[in-house]
Amino acid sequence: STNFSMVAAHSRRPAGEDNIFAINNAAQQAAKVHGADKVVNASVGALLDDDGKLSILPSVIELLKSLPAVEYAAYAPIAGLPSFLEASKKAVFRDQMPEGYIEAIATPGGSGAIRHTIWNYSNGGDYILTPDWYWGPYKTIAEEHGRAIATYTLFDEKDQFNLQSFADKVEELLKKQDQLVILLNSPANNPTGYSLTNEEWEAVLNYLKKEASSPEKKITLFVDIAYIDFAGETNECRSFMKQFGGLPENILTIMAFSMSKGYTLYGMRCGAMICVSANKAVAEEFKAVNQFSNRGVWSNGTRPAMTVLAQIFESPQLLTQVEKERNTLQQMLSERAEVFLENARKANLKICPYKAGFFITIPCSNPEAVTKELQKDLIFAVPMGKGIRFAVCSVPKDQCAIVPEKLAQAIAKF
Ligand code: PLP
Repeated sequence: STNFSMVAAHSRRPAGEDNIFAINNAAQQAAKVHGADKVVNASVGALLDDDGKLSILPSVIELLKSLPAVEYAAYAPIAGLPSFLEASKKAVFRDQMPEGYIEAIATPGGSGAIRHTIWNYSNGGDYILTPDWYWGPYKTIAEEHGRAIATYTLFDEKDQFNLQSFADKVEELLKKQDQLVILLNSPANNPTGYSLTNEEWEAVLNYLKKEASSPEKKITLFVDIAYIDFAGETNECRSFMKQFGGLPENILTIMAFSMSKGYTLYGMRCGAMICVSANKAVAEEFKAVNQFSNRGVWSNGTRPAMTVLAQIFESPQLLTQVEKERNTLQQMLSERAEVFLENARKANLKICPYKAGFFITIPCSNPEAVTKELQKDLIFAVPMGKGIRFAVCSVPKDQCAIVPEKLAQAIAKF
């Protein structure tokens, strides 16, 4: 019968195609029928050039290709190459290194860091806290490991970080559970493009310090900086990081480093998780526990990608070159976003507060119906729980200009 299932009880879940990939497929089908220039494919979560090809950083790819064969063939150490771990700390913090004990473990992208954090810093059945606008795989990874997602409202009525909603949710969850993992994707949040200000970070940390006054409560703040290299000036957009120094020992900060976007190495599956703690033992435990999890889940990571990062941060010249190439891409991205925002204003289209990043989000009711309506105009965007995600990263500027008006019209119909 169709109800017959072989999998264990905990793995029984509805089958289904990934929503975003399905929309991307539909857009590509439409391009075959109507011509690529007629189709707006705003579903892809990668930076594409104006011809729809993946944007790459040539210096990074050249460096990768120049590595000797053994760099590809050999294993990396389970924790990651030591030179990579040093480089990843530099890549994350640049000149904004906080005070404290800082340890790093290599993971397959930011995704791997999310996985280990959820598994090692929350208990089975716990809630993982994230805002109402969040990257879908947070839920997938939580559920894969027997946890559930709880959400607070990201924005207040002034379109700023909703500290009250955040605080209420933290308080509520800490009444029920002793371990709390908080996933916060900033700067250049996916899907909204929001970045917390330094004052908002300060308010978040002050509140967490208050909650941490009960020593049996353990709070892990996971800072997902997947898009940080497209979030503005290098040190300015990292200036909030200094605040992670000097926190109580029962607040652990974990930064998620990813080479996917910032180094255009999506397919190499390389990143790291980096802790900041005021307590040496907590940092050493972090290293030991997550190294064990590496061995227990995927063994080691991708050596050539690690070597690439190590070499970039050992050579000021290389780093300058990478940043030069990346600035060109960032420029292309911010021009698209500006054009979108400008035309959204003209069309009176309400959008989530965007500061930087790959996506702009339009809150609306009935997002499924609105995205279907948009497809009649060959515009392919992604419906989310409370709105529509438009990937400015994958749409040329001239198309970004015409979409807001169409969006406003489609939303008005429902
Ligand atoms: N976090 C967010 C918010 C993302 O959008 C992504 C990728 O799309 C990631 C983390 C992780 O990417 P990766 O595992 O490729 O580093």
